[in-house]
Amino acid sequence: MTTRPPFEIDAIRREFPALAQSIHGKPLVYLDSAATALKPQAVIDSVVSVYAQDCANIHRAVHTLSQRATARYDGVRESVRKLLNARSTKELVYVRGTTEAINLVAASFAVPTLREGDEILVTELEHHSNFVPWQLVREKTGATLVVVPVDDAGEVTLEAFRAKLSSRTKLVSVAHVSNALGTVLPIAEIIALAHDVGAKVMIDGAQGIVHESVDVQALDCDFYAFSGHKLYGPTGTGILYAKEALLEAMPPYQGGGDMIDRVTLAKTTWNELPYKFEAGTPDIAGVIGLGAAIEWLFALDRVAARAHEHDVLRYARERLGELPFVTIVGNASKTSGAVSFLVDGAHPTDVGMILDEHGIAVRTGHHCTQPLMDRFAIPATARASFGIYSTRAEVDALVTGLEAVRKLFA
Ligand code: PMP
Repeated sequence: MTTRPPFEIDAIRREFPALAQSIHGKPLVYLDSAATALKPQAVIDSVVSVYAQDCANIHRAVHTLSQRATARYDGVRESVRKLLNARSTKELVYVRGTTEAINLVAASFAVPTLREGDEILVTELEHHSNFVPWQLVREKTGATLVVVPVDDAGEVTLEAFRAKLSSRTKLVSVAHVSNALGTVLPIAEIIALAHDVGAKVMIDGAQGIVHESVDVQALDCDFYAFSGHKLYGPTGTGILYAKEALLEAMPPYQGGGDMIDRVTLAKTTWNELPYKFEAGTPDIAGVIGLGAAIEWLFALDRVAARAHEHDVLRYARERLGELPFVTIVGNASKTSGAVSFLVDGAHPTDVGMILDEHGIAVRTGHHCTQPLMDRFAIPATARASFGIYSTRAEVDALVTGLEAVRKLFA
């Protein structure tokens, strides 16, 4: 058994160079990790080293640089396999991010298999990336998009889910964790219920992979997607996990280099899994950086890290809940990573701008969840979201910043 150093927050923070800066003369308080996480030096170094030493295209050449780049790039798949506990690296497709993963499933699984009368189930709290691809599928196939409502706490109850599930349901696509409210969905139960009616299940793990433990075999999900950039890795990277039998049956998503076996003027045959879905030169350095991020996480005590993250979120919800001029939007029984809120008399954009003057970065807007904002009859919220490096002291700084906002708008 490998022994890991104890989780020590100051040491962790020192690994993130972006944290060592001041914004408007104040130390940066970065509370926008749900949009994208900051990167540890190990990830930055890894990307730099690709361009500095191993700058070559992959799967193409016999020369040493290409061999090195290829080995590093292909090796990342094993790190991802361990992260998700996938059965095989054949089940892991490199994509640009969660959005591309969902679009891939929409184009290569849903469009060829769904027809009029079939139903796709999503929930009201989905990110636009988990709505719009299914609306496109609806247009192409005549399938119906059925939306499971969220309750006043921002929860998706199993009762509400069961009420929409039927033998017509062919595909369920839900978030693991809501980026807007932090709600953790009961995905294990959702997957089991969906399988009972013969539906396949896609999990949007963009937020879930960061804060929850994920075991795709135990969950038995059919598809699981996440983005590298929210998991301390580079932008432009992501993973689609899919069961091997499904990937075997699905047609390619894009045509081009690397995804082929043999091209003739008459006919082309496809490369083996997972390369069949990986057309063209990918973000080689990005994928290698994602591997560095995952290995960096493996070297930590992740149980302690998760406990730390949950403690900071709990503390934030507690502190914000104590402010009489703040209303928290979404009070699910289980939340992860983020808290959304409104400040009496101040538009979220103004809240965000004033907090920025205090060095505090929060996201304001609809968080790419307009149907959810409609559900709560609000145009936007301010959202504080947390990463492995976030601290209670940063929550205190947010509270002080919000008191300053209140003074301006009272
Ligand atoms: N789903 C959720 C829950 C998200 O939080 C995000 C990113 N905000 C996405 C999908 C889309 O991810 P990306 O933009 O990295 O493709």
